[in-house]
Amino acid sequence: MDIRLQDAFRPVAHDLAAAGYAAELASDSLGMKDGMLRADLRIDGERLGIVAVDPAWDSAISTRQLAEQAQDLILEYVRPGHGAPMWPECRPGHPHPMTLAREIESATWTCPRDPDYQAPVGTHPGLIP
Ligand SMILES: [Zn+2]
Repeated sequence: MDIRLQDAFRPVAHDLAAAGYAAELASDSLGMKDGMLRADLRIDGERLGIVAVDPAWDSAISTRQLAEQAQDLILEYVRPGHGAPMWPECRPGHPHPMTLAREIESATWTCPRDPDYQAPVGTHPGLIP
């Protein structure tokens, strides 16, 4: 697997691990030849889907895109009972996941209601007590 993909995914894997998800990238099971760097995203050993980055993207944009793709897959496929389906959790009392900040070039989680509440992807504290 391409090292750029693995490097860009590392902060996302941190935030998943902080929330109790064992995330790993595995060889792309589709094998599309379109120039994108692809991998299967596996959570707790289960394949959720494909994540992909363009090799022309810089590392922050790649990490942001991987965070967004991982979030989509988690929210779509991980069911209650396999851990919190809300990822990443927002601050206490906020019953919504954080979203990626509007600035496309930054890999930062933010509260959808309070844009001042932020955490760079790779530094999320995990489950909020
Ligand atoms: Zn919030």
